[in-house]
Amino acid sequence: MNKDFRDIETPFYYYDTVLLQATLDAICKEIKLYPNFHVHYALKANANPKILPIIQRAGLGVDCVSGGEIQTAIDAHFPTNSIVYAGVGKTDKEIILGLRNRIFCFNVESIPELEVINELAAKENTIANVCLRINPDVEPHTHMNIITGMAENKFGIAMSDMEKVILLASTLPHIHFKGLHFHIGSQITQMGDFRALCERINRVQEWLEARGIQVEVINVGGGLGIDYQNPQVNAIPDFKEYFQTYAQYLMLRPNQSVHFELGRSIVAQCGTLITRVLYIKKGTYKQFAIVDAGMTDLIRPALYHAFHRIENISSSAQTYELYDVVGPICESSDIFDYDVQLPTTERGDMLAIRSAGAYGETMASTYNGRALPKSYTDKEI
Ligand code: PLP
Repeated sequence: MNKDFRDIETPFYYYDTVLLQATLDAICKEIKLYPNFHVHYALKANANPKILPIIQRAGLGVDCVSGGEIQTAIDAHFPTNSIVYAGVGKTDKEIILGLRNRIFCFNVESIPELEVINELAAKENTIANVCLRINPDVEPHTHMNIITGMAENKFGIAMSDMEKVILLASTLPHIHFKGLHFHIGSQITQMGDFRALCERINRVQEWLEARGIQVEVINVGGGLGIDYQNPQVNAIPDFKEYFQTYAQYLMLRPNQSVHFELGRSIVAQCGTLITRVLYIKKGTYKQFAIVDAGMTDLIRPALYHAFHRIENISSSAQTYELYDVVGPICESSDIFDYDVQLPTTERGDMLAIRSAGAYGETMASTYNGRALPKSYTDKEI
């Protein structure tokens, strides 16, 4: 990164919109090959109003998990009929917002939720389009805290209850059963995990067909991972391989559409958290670079022990030392990484915490009375 950010108040998120556009172009190039594939951007990954218009202009739909996100999508001019809405705890108010805006589909996670959507749709004199989120009991190779599709997770309807719920959906007069929704987890880099999901879905389809149940929509969720170790080398994930995996292994019936809910793979690499070194502190065993960003700005390392590459972007020192890069928050988990090798670092140096575009700014908080981080794009600075 050859920008000089020294005059700008830190910490802040820096978004490379050229990279974001290149990432979107890579997705669009691939999905053109499969006319029945549709990508919905998972807004939870990043809802910054400076980057949403770029994603909206690329023609992606949107995946929301709250009424607030539905409203954000509407404000950013995503077509409401491209909104899919998931979440285990949808409130009545949120469901009504979805109904009034005629969203593409509610991804329903339980029988009580299905019944409430039916009741509210009746009151609104409308029909709710519904996919059932099925918990496929597939274990991906990723961090334990971001696995969602195993039998013990809180998400979705168990495979064993699926027939009962589909039959119920078909008897509810204000529900239109459109299809099935799955999401096995996030930061998945092994295509074999997605292939395992395809194979599970194929079996589910055969089983449903044997019972005369038709499915229009198959939503496979998101989860494609990125290269946190080498963000510069692999700035754009291998979308070709990803979509090809689904094209090859998912056995589709005529007129079925496949929906993807990609978040991280779209926005993670275009975002960097820029922070300034406040102090270098020598501990008994360790040397700390205390920076002005904290877990309130980027919680992933504290929450999941997630790795982010950290670079000193202002030093020209030729010697290297090890630092624990830590924030100022009164929590011992407020650590970005241990034993980071950096050029000899001083107070005032600028550090870049890479691959922070997904689940960074959206998870920021004001804990410890801190201000939310600011953000800039490459067009602004
Ligand atoms: N869909 C659902 C239901 C999710 O829970 C998530 C992430 O948690 C996503 C999509 C987006 O996943 P990713 O950012 O890994 O693509």
